[in-house]
Amino acid sequence: MSLCVPAIRAMEGQRGEATVESLIGNTPLIRLRRVTQHLSPALQVLVKAEWFNPGGSVKDRPAWNMIRVAEEQGLLTPDKILIDATSGNTGIAYAMIGAARGYRVQLCLPANANAERKRILRAFGAELILTDPREQTDGAIRKVQEIVSADPDRYFYPDQYNNPANWQAHYHGTGVEIWEQTEGQVTHFIAGMGTTGTLMGTGRRLKEYNPSVRLIAVQPDSPFHGLEGLKHLQTALVPGIYDPTVPDEVMEVSTESAHAMARTLVREEGLFVGISAAGAICCALKIAESITSGVVVVLAPDGGSRYISDSLWEEEG
Ligand code: PMP
Repeated sequence: MSLCVPAIRAMEGQRGEATVESLIGNTPLIRLRRVTQHLSPALQVLVKAEWFNPGGSVKDRPAWNMIRVAEEQGLLTPDKILIDATSGNTGIAYAMIGAARGYRVQLCLPANANAERKRILRAFGAELILTDPREQTDGAIRKVQEIVSADPDRYFYPDQYNNPANWQAHYHGTGVEIWEQTEGQVTHFIAGMGTTGTLMGTGRRLKEYNPSVRLIAVQPDSPFHGLEGLKHLQTALVPGIYDPTVPDEVMEVSTESAHAMARTLVREEGLFVGISAAGAICCALKIAESITSGVVVVLAPDGGSRYISDSLWEEEG
């Protein structure tokens, strides 16, 4: 069974020296102040700022946990190539941890993944296999399966969509942190769904602490969306780790609303969040507007600088 995050830290960062791996997790909770001024003073909306992870996103957590568990189980050895399908952030996490631990990393991703991500991946030394953008992440998943099945002994395929160590990273990390940071006061947890690991793991842990915590999953409102990292589950391959009974509610958000929220947050709160984060925050504010008291926690998977070449930021001349 997986170790809890403090135990992992103790192992990795003995005598106080940090490693890249030991810096993963323990991200801050940042309170929204100005965009919540119209709400009841008995309400707090808190953003779990995952861009504080060393690889810049929430995906450092599951990537590290999947690698750690695979090393323990002897599935990942220095002669193997780590391969997976990723829209970007998990790949950056694999590439970063792979570089730190000496693994060769190959990643399949849709050819239209944004330029910053591809550059960062290559900077860490990962090899990229670009797939048909029309097939989105599902095309990348099919490509990995094809490569691995042709030579299974050569690869370690963490398969983040079906690997329990993905959601368990959040069960042992994110969920515990949110409970402790809010001193058990959290009433709502909101997160977007890609692999669904964040919602499954954090959600399960929070429900164990307090079954009345409400879990809200965020989905794009259409199959063709600009919310990188999120899946439109009605039309996409459903991840094996997804359990539809975990969320109490599924909310939809449009790319346009997420873009508008990203602009508002950077100008009015000084928070430069990524697009899926902004989408989740749209839903968090809707929830907050429908209640009079509570502690609403929304997870921001990454920061805005990862999307700086997107058309969203072009208007300013
Ligand atoms: N947003 C972004 C930017 C992501 O990279 C991811 C991970 N794919 C998510 C949201 C969704 O997180 P999860 O895979 O844990 O559902």
